[in-house]
Amino acid sequence: MRRPRIAIAELSHETNAFARIRVDLAFAERCGIARGTAVIDRARDTATVLAGFVDAANMLGFELVPLLAVWITPAGMVTREAYETLVGELLDGLRAAAVDGVLLSLHGAMVAEHVADADGELLRRVRATLGPQVPVVAVLDLHANISPLMVAHADVLIGYHTYPHVDQRERGRQAGQLLARLLRRELRPAPALVKPPMLPTSQRMTTDRPPMRVLLDRAEAMETDPRVLDVTVAGGFPPADVPEAGLSVLVTTDSDPFLARQLAEELARLAWDLRHGFLGGVATWDEAAAALRTIERGPLVLVDIADNPWTGGPGDSVELLRFLLGENVRPAALALVRDPEVVAHCFRAGVGATVEVLFGGKTDDLHGPPLRVRGNVRALSDGRYVNAGPMLAGVVVDLGRTVVLEVDGIAVLVTERAESPIDLNVFRAHGIEPTEQRVLALKGKGHFRAAFEPIAERVLLVEGPGITGSDLRRLPFRNIRRPIWPLDLD
Ligand SMILES: [Zn+2]
Repeated sequence: MRRPRIAIAELSHETNAFARIRVDLAFAERCGIARGTAVIDRARDTATVLAGFVDAANMLGFELVPLLAVWITPAGMVTREAYETLVGELLDGLRAAAVDGVLLSLHGAMVAEHVADADGELLRRVRATLGPQVPVVAVLDLHANISPLMVAHADVLIGYHTYPHVDQRERGRQAGQLLARLLRRELRPAPALVKPPMLPTSQRMTTDRPPMRVLLDRAEAMETDPRVLDVTVAGGFPPADVPEAGLSVLVTTDSDPFLARQLAEELARLAWDLRHGFLGGVATWDEAAAALRTIERGPLVLVDIADNPWTGGPGDSVELLRFLLGENVRPAALALVRDPEVVAHCFRAGVGATVEVLFGGKTDDLHGPPLRVRGNVRALSDGRYVNAGPMLAGVVVDLGRTVVLEVDGIAVLVTERAESPIDLNVFRAHGIEPTEQRVLALKGKGHFRAAFEPIAERVLLVEGPGITGSDLRRLPFRNIRRPIWPLDLD
């Protein structure tokens, strides 16, 4: 029997509508677009959805047709040109390949300048290209804003169960197994999407504790019913500023729309009842200062959630550095501040040079002012390293040219590109041993926990000025549905 030909592709972007930096084609290309067999080469030995697709192909005897893969760093809107070019390339690939099925890795919170529901529109076009008979299974991020359009145009949509997202490979395999059953015409998926009027931020959305743990425990219990194909609880991504932004429950059963609806409504009610558990979790700067004085061996992992690159923050806020300098803490290390100007200056000056620079706060006026600092250039690198894991283990990170700038005993990673520091190798690759610091200052929200919580004496979230924090009243929403909790409702 002929092996089924299965197209695989990834086009993933989490869009912060309030971020100034737009995703044009050059931005997407800088994130690394893999095409053809390079998609499989890059996935090898990584904790990614694509690696899970490849695992499934090996287990289930698919002939893979790798088309395109790009994981675009969260930022502002995707330009019309970038969206049409990348989606167009994907559709051309599908048309040319004559495939039996499709596996897609999407985010579910992508917004383009001209298409608010950019993932839904992508799936609509995939369906229009393939016709109704070719099954399509897509994997979404836990922060997806799942829409009826997405649900309508995929045979099955499934989402991650973890935040930090450590189950991506497992979800890729699950998608492959569902696709195999669809190819055998064993299944008639019946999805039900329920969206309670909730717009939680994600600083307390990590899945090892309530409220998400409670929701996922119930979801996973529902999945033990053989009629239930998948239960996804997506926390959503508020700063996408689209009508579908917010928490989603998506239950897919085999041939039983009533059961799907009943289970989805039960979980949505439970999410609503637990909503207050999503609030808070952020310390004041005064509380952080008090915590510094009680640290014994360290490190205190201090995380500014308001300039988180993986929520679309520019990564150039210097509020953490301002705080650490004011508190006289050392040794400390900070990842990271994106400032290509300072990087260029330090590369010209060379290792060992003392530089005086106007540092950070340059992208917009929403992330605090720049800081004038005098520092020593301790090291220069190409900013490339491989994640040790557990999250995204094996994935190559590219921060662009990177400088270790030492300012009053604080080692600051200054980079050309902004990515969230989620892995200990962000420091180790630059000659900094994270376990030997009194303070590790990070820009993040939840993903850092997978690698940093195990080595931390204590973890504290704080928030400086910025567009990625916990207070949604800071953001000038225009397109979300109203009324919605916690802005309007309780
Ligand atoms: Zn996510």
